[in-house]
Amino acid sequence: MDKYTEQRIKKLHPSVRNEVKNIIEECNKALTGKAKIRITQGLRTFKEQDDLYNIGRTKKGKKLTRAKGGQSIHNYGFAVDICLIIDNKQASWDTLKDWDNDQVADWFECVKIFAKFGWNWGGNWKNFKDLPHFEKKGYNDWRKLSKLKKDENDYVIL
Ligand SMILES: [Zn+2]
Repeated sequence: MDKYTEQRIKKLHPSVRNEVKNIIEECNKALTGKAKIRITQGLRTFKEQDDLYNIGRTKKGKKLTRAKGGQSIHNYGFAVDICLIIDNKQASWDTLKDWDNDQVADWFECVKIFAKFGWNWGGNWKNFKDLPHFEKKGYNDWRKLSKLKKDENDYVIL
């Protein structure tokens, strides 16, 4: 597992850290070496989310998100975005490529493993597909999450 992925897992909600570690390890095993999975984003603070929301609105650029601070599952540490790292150097968001030649696209091998652990894939959304995105089932309603109390480290108390 690469060090960026490891660092990002450590900032996820404490209740899913071990699980995500296991998912990543299982994905890397399934991909057999050429492609490795990397978490590009896990926890995002409310402030970081607001900054993102402002792009294309009060700041220059194309709109990136419809979620303000508190309205993304990333803000609670229950979502991750991934990419694949090919031959330990090049990042890829190709969801169709079969790097390990087992007749299943590597990205879909990861989707299946996430699903087995109870994580929804943004690629299954009807309106706005988010192919790199996964979120934990049962914790993917920001309205509910936003009502929970937080601990001293700013994680919601389940
Ligand atoms: Zn995401």
